[in-house]
Amino acid sequence: MKKIWMIGIVLFGLSVKANASDGDKFVQVGTGLLYQRGWDVTIGLEQETRYHNAWEYFGNVYLKWEDCSSCGHVCPESFWKSYRAWGVGAAYKPAVVRTRNSVGRIRLGASVGSDRDKFLGGVHVGYEQNYAMRSGLVLFWQVKSDLMINGKDLFRTGLVLGVKFPIK
Ligand SMILES: [Zn+2]
Repeated sequence: MKKIWMIGIVLFGLSVKANASDGDKFVQVGTGLLYQRGWDVTIGLEQETRYHNAWEYFGNVYLKWEDCSSCGHVCPESFWKSYRAWGVGAAYKPAVVRTRNSVGRIRLGASVGSDRDKFLGGVHVGYEQNYAMRSGLVLFWQVKSDLMINGKDLFRTGLVLGVKFPIK
């Protein structure tokens, strides 16, 4: 049931994209550290709609490292091979703070994915602050909290830094 609900939200996001009014589009890349012992990379397509609100369609990979059971430290083996998961999803990002060169948005999303053995569902809540550069690039930071259903860690919370490249 949860699975159906998640997929529904993602499909809803994708269908809204088709109807979105013309706005700026960006490819965005962000990476961050999440509590606890997690590293995350997210690549997304962002479509601005009216009033600087935006939709984001994203793919995410997540890695969680452990102390190695044989050497007792975090080593390359235990860093790369302990736990990996991926997901794809959509987020709606209403603008809440705006100045001439920056916009702050709440980020509300859902995703579906897998960690090699299990289906994973995610609910994503966060805040994103964007700074427009003269070149057209946008730099951003994001605080995020992910609620993962079936995942190795239920909550992931952390800070992400990234850049958005404008596309036509
Ligand atoms: Zn080791």
